[in-house]
Amino acid sequence: MSDYMVRAMAADGQVRAFAATTRDLVEEARRRHGTYPVATAALGRLLTAGVMMGGMMKGDKDLLTLQIKCSGPIGGLTVTADTHGNVKGFVNNPAVDLPASPKGKLDVGRALDLGILSVIRDLGLKDPYVGQTELKTGEIAEDLTYYFATSEQTPSSVGLGVLMNKENTVRQAGGFIIQLMPFADDAVIDRLEKKLTACDPVTTMLDRGMSPEDILQEILGDFGLVFEEKSECRFHCNCSKQRVAKAVISLGKKEIESLIAEDKPVEVNCHFCGSHYVFERDELAEMLKVAKN
Ligand code: ZN
Repeated sequence: MSDYMVRAMAADGQVRAFAATTRDLVEEARRRHGTYPVATAALGRLLTAGVMMGGMMKGDKDLLTLQIKCSGPIGGLTVTADTHGNVKGFVNNPAVDLPASPKGKLDVGRALDLGILSVIRDLGLKDPYVGQTELKTGEIAEDLTYYFATSEQTPSSVGLGVLMNKENTVRQAGGFIIQLMPFADDAVIDRLEKKLTACDPVTTMLDRGMSPEDILQEILGDFGLVFEEKSECRFHCNCSKQRVAKAVISLGKKEIESLIAEDKPVEVNCHFCGSHYVFERDELAEMLKVAKN
């Protein structure tokens, strides 16, 4: 298995932790969407968070969507993940070109700038559960830390990183989410905070080639770390010609008639994975039959 996530507990269940390596799925997203480096980093961080947060849900059909609407040149990002390690996502403007930050890093914060992060959990109930917070730094990990603290009252530490090769392919990607359970005692919280401050940033750990297990061992090794589960994750889009046809049909008779009147094949692209679907005139005619007014 190339990309995978691990789930662990520490301090007798007072701390739960997730870590993932996501290089292949972030590279696939980059290739499918043709993202420039700063957009690859932003999307890769959100995909990595999506994989881990998808893994936090329980139901077989539960779906998680992370959506960022922002004023920076990237325009916005959307990631959807399920509980089986499938994740997909896109950015509104993949061709963001920005100079490096003063520290010489990809300037994800400037690419996003001000905005709103929405976390949408569709648990198969009538309405999805939606939590929203403002972006704090636009660096995504800090924004999610803030989201967990304010919207879910779960103190968390989130680390996300994407490193690029010289030719702008993805060299390493991954991250961790560490969360305190409500009954965590102050001594554990203090020790963990000190440990997290002393640890290298996640990009440094990834750069050293550390696995998800190594990363959690580094942070939680002194806290009675117990690994509970290891599972594969991947970039996967569930779009199909049939699903796209349904979406076209939902446009209604009038709209389909005008598409037919243009007398050329209709091309529809999936935002999430970039797949192209072409509908010929006779297919449109069939769709018109089942469309509503
Ligand atoms: Zn798709």
